[in-house]
Amino acid sequence: MFSEKLNLLKEKNLLRRIYDRESPQGPRILLKGQEYISFSSNDYLGLAGHPYIINTANESMSRYGFGAGASRLLSGGSILHHQLEEKIAQFKNTEAALVFNSGYAANTGIIPALADRDTVLFSDELNHASIIDGCRLSKAETVVYNHKDVMHLEECLKKKAATKKVIVTDTIFSMNGDIAPLREIVRLCKTYNAYLYIDEAHATGVIGKGKGALAHFDIDPEPWIIQMGTFSKALGSFGAFLAGSADIIAWTLNTSRSFMYSTALPSCIIAASIAALELMENDPHIIKQLWTNRDKAAQGILAAGYDTMGSETPIIPVKTGSIQNTLRIAKYLFEQGIFAPAIRPPTVKESRIRITVTAAHTDEDIERLIEALKKI
Ligand SMILES: *Cc1c(COP(=O)(O)O)cnc(C)c1O
Repeated sequence: MFSEKLNLLKEKNLLRRIYDRESPQGPRILLKGQEYISFSSNDYLGLAGHPYIINTANESMSRYGFGAGASRLLSGGSILHHQLEEKIAQFKNTEAALVFNSGYAANTGIIPALADRDTVLFSDELNHASIIDGCRLSKAETVVYNHKDVMHLEECLKKKAATKKVIVTDTIFSMNGDIAPLREIVRLCKTYNAYLYIDEAHATGVIGKGKGALAHFDIDPEPWIIQMGTFSKALGSFGAFLAGSADIIAWTLNTSRSFMYSTALPSCIIAASIAALELMENDPHIIKQLWTNRDKAAQGILAAGYDTMGSETPIIPVKTGSIQNTLRIAKYLFEQGIFAPAIRPPTVKESRIRITVTAAHTDEDIERLIEALKKI
């Protein structure tokens, strides 16, 4: 039964595979004993293999052991979990924060906790799959608005007479690398009395001096703005957070199923997230280097004649047309020792090569990528 379905995927060039890395995550990785320059991770600040983070995680393991053994509401969390939440609340300038086991668990847990039957969710069409699933799991109606289209969003808001409205958006879109027009969206929230839920998975550690989109746009955190972000991308660790008013945190802690019914993250992962935040805050040079590298790569790719689909961030999609052509280009780059993955439907509508640049790439890494792209 599944072999037929699998064959169908194969015929359409949509069959996926798993790559097994034999080295730490970083700008150079080992696959089957071969070194590749990697433009395929979200380790934007190059912290995934940082010695300070590894040491801090190791030390915490000797104090708190490894497994958490229970959910946070039982005995699963340590004082490190609490410390990380205080740090996040401070970092985001909110009343409180709550740690989730992953970004996926956060979106699928928080959105249904916030949005009841009387709520309408307004969701950008390019929002991450975990947001889409969170909307599906909630009892609320979901209205999808055109990507970053503030006029369309306003039309949708006007049409729906709900008691509670929540606008949901990624702040940096994971496959296009563009930034949500947050100032305009905040204005609509005020006009239509809507809550704002933002997903800062790719913005944390990248924009607003690492603090994310509100800092980037100089928007004050308000009690009706709910922020979610992850430790798994720029911060090189694992897990996610919710930051917002004390009421929202208390309500989520009491009702979010992915928080309540899942074992807490091991303390060593929490220690790693704390260490990553410290590194980022103490050394602004890392974020500067990320942007220097990003600008160099983006300029080179554009100069080589490619369409980068509106990218404004270290996520640089390269438009490649058909699925076949996309796979052909990814294969060519791979043969040149460059790992830059083909992204195909259903992840995106239009196939592309998704380049991600990090602070750890060297000038030579970026030049080699651009040279290879020029030869295609
Ligand atoms: C990666 C990502 C997530 C999921 O985060 P994980 O910690 O990897 O589960 C959620 N939202 C967006 C926008 C993402 O890019």
